[in-house]
Amino acid sequence: MKNFYDILGISKTASDKDIKKAYKKAVLLHHPDRGGNEEKFKEIAHAYEVLTDKEKKQIYDKYGEEGLKQGGGAGMDPFNMFPFNMDPFFRQRQDQQVKKCDATVVQVEVTLEQLYNGDKIIKTVPLNKICSSCKGSGAKDKYIPQKCEECHGKGIKIIRRQIAPGMIQQMQAVCEKCGGQGKVIDNKHKCQKCNGNKVVKNNKKFDIHVTSTLYNGKEILYRDKGEEHPGFNRGDILFIIVEEEHKLFKRNNKYNLYIKKTINLVEALTGTYIIVEHLDKRKIYVETHEVIKPNTYKKIIGEGIPQGKGDLIIEFEIIFPLYVDMNYRKQLEEICGQNVDNVDVSKMKEGLLLDHYLNTDKNEEEDDMREGVQCQQQ
Ligand SMILES: [Zn+2]
Ligand SMILES: [Zn+2]
Repeated sequence: MKNFYDILGISKTASDKDIKKAYKKAVLLHHPDRGGNEEKFKEIAHAYEVLTDKEKKQIYDKYGEEGLKQGGGAGMDPFNMFPFNMDPFFRQRQDQQVKKCDATVVQVEVTLEQLYNGDKIIKTVPLNKICSSCKGSGAKDKYIPQKCEECHGKGIKIIRRQIAPGMIQQMQAVCEKCGGQGKVIDNKHKCQKCNGNKVVKNNKKFDIHVTSTLYNGKEILYRDKGEEHPGFNRGDILFIIVEEEHKLFKRNNKYNLYIKKTINLVEALTGTYIIVEHLDKRKIYVETHEVIKPNTYKKIIGEGIPQGKGDLIIEFEIIFPLYVDMNYRKQLEEICGQNVDNVDVSKMKEGLLLDHYLNTDKNEEEDDMREGVQCQQQ
């Protein structure tokens, strides 16, 4: 990224007059109407805009262009006397855009079946709408709202706070009395429909078409379909997909599906078949004719999420018999091709072997310990 001073061809110590002079010169050279490059001209205009704005120039000099994007450098410098990010109007001034209402974020709960097969979900969202009775003035009849005395019509108040001896932090806050409007409406003149709020809540219905290209956490933006407020552009609505947990299928990445299949030891050794009822109710049949070891996976190609060409992955859990007659040991050795060695144990101490159950739930273990402590105290 090129330095703003370099773009205008001036030094960091250039005066306001020098900046203006350099800008005029650059415009004459690079204006697109005079055959200049449009990108270059935009760069010049942006550099000029920043360097002639006292506040922006200060931020730029201190934190560079990144600092401007972040809305100031608060947090980076503990001795910064003006934490700009606490100023709700800073970003608006900086962007020089018409203010926009905050986006409304709505969660859309869907089942895996709905995503896999596609579905239409109707979501009702309560949204602020400009009051039709007062057209957004908040006042009855032709009453004109009065200047707020608390903030002298500015909508913001400067708050000073001592953060250390001899060090005062100063920041701007929205005026509570007028809610940042700078104007107040006397109670008896308030619009009865919106109670002076200028907006009323209105339930709006949205049709959301879900398909298997969507997944947990995926966002769908409805631009300029959200909240209304006088003097602001209409806000956006952001729908966020929340995928409900399925009792059979898991979706650990975007497009592969996972299932667990329990088989017994004979099946694991000699082969088995699997029937999966899929999310669209199709029944899929597969066979295996080989030994399946514990903690192994197999996959059915192309039976994951169709749009992503995913696969269906099967994790095997093998159930072992509780008891095997030791008379079959020789036969099992032959069948499996695995011998069990005999060892001389005459010079060894025989230990005591019992079942041990690992406590895998850590919280439970902690709870046990806590209970123990409490008992001792009593
Ligand atoms: Zn109204
Ligand atoms: Zn006020």
